[in-house]
Amino acid sequence: MTRTLEVAACIVGAGPVGATLAATLAAADLPVAVVDSAPLPPMELPEFDGRAYAIALTSKRLLDAAGVWEHLPAPPCPILEIRVADGRPGEPASRLHLHWRAAEVSEEPFGYMVEARALRVALNARLPRMANLAVFAPARAEAERRAEGAVVRLSTGEEIRARLVVAAEGRNSPLRRQAGIRAATLDYRQIGMVGAFAHERPHRNVALEQFLPNGPFAQLPLSGPGGFGTATLPHASAFVWADRTEIAQRMLALPDVAFGRELRRRLGEHLGEIRPIGRRWSYPLSALHVSRWWDTRLALVGDAAHGVHPIAGQGLNLGFRDVAALAEEVIAAWNGGGDPGAPEVLARYQARRRGDTLLMLSGMHALERLFGNDIAPVRWARRLGIAAVDRLPGLKRAFARQAMGLTPGVTGLLAGQRLRR
Ligand SMILES: Cc1cc2nc3c(=O)[nH]c(=O)nc-3n(C[C@H](O)[C@H](O)[C@H](O)COP(=O)(O)OP(=O)(O)OC[C@H]3O[C@@H](n4cnc5c(N)ncnc54)[C@H](O)[C@@H]3O)c2cc1C
Repeated sequence: MTRTLEVAACIVGAGPVGATLAATLAAADLPVAVVDSAPLPPMELPEFDGRAYAIALTSKRLLDAAGVWEHLPAPPCPILEIRVADGRPGEPASRLHLHWRAAEVSEEPFGYMVEARALRVALNARLPRMANLAVFAPARAEAERRAEGAVVRLSTGEEIRARLVVAAEGRNSPLRRQAGIRAATLDYRQIGMVGAFAHERPHRNVALEQFLPNGPFAQLPLSGPGGFGTATLPHASAFVWADRTEIAQRMLALPDVAFGRELRRRLGEHLGEIRPIGRRWSYPLSALHVSRWWDTRLALVGDAAHGVHPIAGQGLNLGFRDVAALAEEVIAAWNGGGDPGAPEVLARYQARRRGDTLLMLSGMHALERLFGNDIAPVRWARRLGIAAVDRLPGLKRAFARQAMGLTPGVTGLLAGQRLRR
């Protein structure tokens, strides 16, 4: 016999964005279902995902409100300083750089470094404990959406009647395609390489971004040593290194010692001896922009709605801002006795998210193009530009607040508002 479930929202995709949305809505007492085509426990395994996310302060507040942050398996590493410089592999970083200290901007850190698998451990611990949240994974979902409501049929036999279906299936969202929502993409012809390395000297909670001719290189501090280090290399950092596809493929094939040498040519000498640890991961990089964020009884969130260059580690943070905006609209409609999947609710959600995402998309794209240019006059102009911004405290502070998610008028879950239980 088919089991039928009635929910306010059925979220398809339990990645970091879909799972956080599910936890946020369920924490506000809404009946929710979340479906993923993959089983969730293996996502915690070290071989599943090598990324470490720079979680902005406002994203941390959302994870707090959803009851996820407290389940992180270890305290995440706070980012207290950010240094941005222009450079070339094998040369010392330009002395004309930008340097931010969190204490000059707010009383809290810029953000926290959280490994993808640690966030998954927390989500997997939180989701099954929520009484009004049903998790179906692995399961395939077929959605039938009509003006009066949606029905999601699962490969496992269940039928879910939902006021709203949320597409959170990442880049290649089948629900987005079925709804005929156009997605424009731009291939950067770069590969993002990620992994971790142990190092001799402490990172002092400083995140470093080096803009190199073929793509940016970031060193991001990890809580350490956490089992990473050795007596001589007791500290650990993550790297995100974007390079032209053919160069990245060559780098990825190098043995550890040679790969470590290439890392150090880009990183510089400030951390002393280094050694890559664990395996390396690679992701082809592209930007993605959708023509609209909703359709009948359907809302898009996370990478299903946008893709940005990881140059400033903002992709997941954008997804968390989608979660906050959609959750606030849906909770307000539900608590007011309204319909959380009604067109006016979804139109308000789109209006809240479109501008911010476009700004981030174009900003990351402009940065990538400006810094990916090695023509000498352009290089000098941007080095001078960097130095000039470093001497303009107002502008510098504005950039920092943007990266923390503290955009003007930030309210609700991103401002630390708690959910009613
Ligand atoms: C190299 C690199 C470094 C990055 N670093 C950062 C960073 O430091 N900070 C940051 O904010 N962002 C970063 N990002 C971006 C970030 O990784 C993504 O924005 C984030 O993973 C998007 O999460 P999501 O839940 O929307 O999608 P995904 O993580 O893609 O999750 C989608 C989920 O949907 C499921 N699914 C797929 N298809 C179906 C289906 N048909 N039915 C049901 N379920 C389905 C999948 O199994 C998966 O669980 C980085 C990205 C890259 C490439």
